Amino acid sequence: MENKKVRCKICNSLKEGISLEHYNLKLCLECFPIFFRKRIDETIKKFKMFQPSDPILIALSGGKDSVSLTKTLRDLGYNIRALHINIGIKGLSEKTEEFVINFCENEKIDLKIIKLQEIFPLPVYKISKIAKKPICAVCGMIRRYIMNMEAKGETIVTGHTLNDEVSFIIKNLIFWNDDLLSRINPVLSEKQGFSKKVKPLCLTTEQETKLFCEVLGIKYIDESCPYRSEVYDVFKHVTAELNKNFPGSIIGFYKGYLKRVKKMYSESIEKVSLQKCKDCGYLTSSERCSICRLKEKLLEYKNG
Ligand SMILES: [Zn+2]
Ligand SMILES: [Zn+2]
Repeated sequence: MENKKVRCKICNSLKEGISLEHYNLKLCLECFPIFFRKRIDETIKKFKMFQPSDPILIALSGGKDSVSLTKTLRDLGYNIRALHINIGIKGLSEKTEEFVINFCENEKIDLKIIKLQEIFPLPVYKISKIAKKPICAVCGMIRRYIMNMEAKGETIVTGHTLNDEVSFIIKNLIFWNDDLLSRINPVLSEKQGFSKKVKPLCLTTEQETKLFCEVLGIKYIDESCPYRSEVYDVFKHVTAELNKNFPGSIIGFYKGYLKRVKKMYSESIEKVSLQKCKDCGYLTSSERCSICRLKEKLLEYKNG
């Protein structure tokens, strides 16, 4: 982003700063982090995500979104603990784990690291082949499993941004995945034993998380996963283009969607009742959870 001299809306001085087109707002570089933190705190309160003393488990991947969010929640004094899942991608995962350890040490944040290999002793691309599912789907399923099993009475916080949320909605509108569309909400309340899940960056763009890290000199891992799906990239790109060409459009779209979603799906989607997996205790709609069934498949594969 190009920095030029602006008249800052907060401190009113003329100095180096940025223009956030989608808010129609100009801020100097000193005031931007203050604005960023305040906006996240307001989002937490607006959607009643959690209270200052509530225990929080934050999913820390090491990218700019989760790093800026973790730093912000720490600065705001929330009661956080970080969870990093090492998915075992050669080179990238080791580097990322090392980064996350240093970051949490510097910020004095309690960190738990879980390696995907502890659950499945195979590389994720192999698991995906055996499961006959896309890598991202398998990886997401395992991550959700780890996170839900790790959070005991803690609220789970993820670094999904406005861009992520809007891309997800557009994609599911295009393919009419009603089941997913009906459940879109920055707060998924605790139910049937699953922890509450919240997304404090749901009204914050990726442009802002990047800027926050840059202005404060916070490092993050900039490489994306080599297995990321092309579909994901297409919708992320569409969302970024929308925001660039029509500043403010994606935030308006997201807020409008949240307003309409309950009406659109008022009588929809039967609730499935969940039970405990008989092997691991994870909540599932069948006798055994998808992870335990996948484990069995991998075992069959191993034994030929
Ligand atoms: Zn200022
Ligand atoms: Zn299970």
